[in-house]
Amino acid sequence: MALVNLADQLRDAKTKKYAIGAFNMVNLEFLTAVIEAAEKARSPVILNLAEVHMPYVDTELLSCAAVRAAERSAVPVVLNLDHGLSFDTVKRVVDLGFTSVMFDGSSLSYEDNLARTAEIVRYCHDRGVSVEAELGAVGGDEGGALFSEADPSLYTDPEQAGAYVRETGVDALAVAIGNSHGRYKGEPQLDFARLAALRDRAGVPLVLHGGSGIGREDFQRAISLGITKINFYTGMSQAALDSLKTDLASSGKSYNDIPLIFQSLQKRVGDTVSEQIDIFLNGRQPL
Ligand SMILES: [Zn+2]
Repeated sequence: MALVNLADQLRDAKTKKYAIGAFNMVNLEFLTAVIEAAEKARSPVILNLAEVHMPYVDTELLSCAAVRAAERSAVPVVLNLDHGLSFDTVKRVVDLGFTSVMFDGSSLSYEDNLARTAEIVRYCHDRGVSVEAELGAVGGDEGGALFSEADPSLYTDPEQAGAYVRETGVDALAVAIGNSHGRYKGEPQLDFARLAALRDRAGVPLVLHGGSGIGREDFQRAISLGITKINFYTGMSQAALDSLKTDLASSGKSYNDIPLIFQSLQKRVGDTVSEQIDIFLNGRQPL
């Protein structure tokens, strides 16, 4: 299969009531773990590359690997820019073959967020690329503080969401309903009544960021109320760290064990992705 467009995949997910996981890659091990887990579960998948991780990776090389991985994959793969912050980055990833971008204008005023997003939508749609945007502000920052909290004053307003989607033409909308990036302080409290109102007003598939730490039941309730894309990274990152800690603490490791250490890291990350895909599929088998 090849790379696919986000909008088409989310439409299918919305109709069949499942969600597609969007998992971040920070290296080849993460990329391979995500693709293999999706193939095992026979689920479409979204590979995220976050702009905040670009200083740490060779974006061009990792993107080429992701495009190749998608081409030879047994499942549909969306290659998505996660939390794009500038038009330049959007143009760069479109040139690298990404099929979707998320533009994060959540730190801008409503008017600026709308104007910038609309401009990016025009550019991307002319090139067959989908656009996700964020309205309101999800707690914490991608790649930011260790613990974060959602701020109810920044939750997405359903009325405003309807107008925003109509005026920008976005394909999907990331909502703030009590979700938060990084690790949650205490139990996440999602505002499901707000989510139902957003589903009714927004008119496009909805996206839940800050997936790590939300339980199966809450995820599945959110899916039943219109969530079709779920971003998940912190849990993968923690799994990688746990794997490294275990391996490095065990005695007798030497220089020639490095490939094995990376291999077990990849397996641990893949197991974490598999657990999440199982939850996100919500008992459906779309492929
Ligand atoms: Zn996010």
